[in-house]
Amino acid sequence: MLPTSSGSFPLFRIFGIQVYLHWWWFLFAVVELSVRRNPYSSIGWKVAEYVAVFVIVLLHEFGHALACRQTGGKADKIILWPLGGVAFVQPPPRPGAELWSIAAGPLVNVLLIPVILGAMWARTQFQIGDASVDVRIFLGALFWINLSLLIFNMLPVYPLDGGQILRSLLWYGVGRARSLYFATIAGFVGIAVIAAYFIWSNPNRALFVLLMGGFLASQCLASFRHAQALLQLEKLPRHAGVKCPECGERPPGGPIWACGACGNRFDPFSTQGVCPHCSSVQPTIPCLHCGTASTRERWGIVRSGGAGSPPVIDV
Ligand SMILES: [Zn+2]
Ligand SMILES: [Zn+2]
Ligand SMILES: [Zn+2]
Repeated sequence: MLPTSSGSFPLFRIFGIQVYLHWWWFLFAVVELSVRRNPYSSIGWKVAEYVAVFVIVLLHEFGHALACRQTGGKADKIILWPLGGVAFVQPPPRPGAELWSIAAGPLVNVLLIPVILGAMWARTQFQIGDASVDVRIFLGALFWINLSLLIFNMLPVYPLDGGQILRSLLWYGVGRARSLYFATIAGFVGIAVIAAYFIWSNPNRALFVLLMGGFLASQCLASFRHAQALLQLEKLPRHAGVKCPECGERPPGGPIWACGACGNRFDPFSTQGVCPHCSSVQPTIPCLHCGTASTRERWGIVRSGGAGSPPVIDV
């Protein structure tokens, strides 16, 4: 149930990362601005506060995306929607790369603490006349919102950042599949406990908490299924002579890959990438470990140019 770019419109593109804003964001903004009491002298400050929160969330997501790029992973899309932001990051499947890609998001919020405190200090030094009270309320609100986002994101509950950090640390000990399996099971329990607590402490927010909980649980479920698939994959024997050119993992043996032409499943590593059902040559073969599709040449199961050359027939 991740937001898709179809319900969103492109805002801007920076560092090769496309930022989208989901339409729901406007709906929530209108509700927030009209329902909540306005502590400022004018509505303009309330709007500014809402936009500032949006910038904080955006900086957090850029932390994830840029760190992921740094590890050699893929990150080219960020979607902002009412329940926060989603950075579509695909770090290489190593615990260290995953750990840094996740930790860099909350780290942005940690770095923002002294920045906001500095602005608060500057306000007391330079008198800004009538606007001073509004600036004080505005900076105070930003400080608490940034801190709340940091604390919430760092809860050790998958798929929140804290839960994903915990998962990366578990990876060092029990491996990729099992760490995800344990982290997602603990995630379901954690989401239920946190949702129950928030509803108990403020019943007025029940609808929002249920929406948020449902969103997190659906992400957790998708990751749980992924963990189950990874566990299945780990049980299969591996092809000894082949390695993924991207991640170095050996592909499992068995009819797991679907033919791009006829849809039947086969093992391209024992047929040099040729479908035994319809004889079509697969242009690329995806790695089941890291997801990268590489050509037969890059996999090293056929030599360059060898596929198209006519057979030599001795007479
Ligand atoms: Zn995050
Ligand atoms: Zn086929
Ligand atoms: Zn791979």
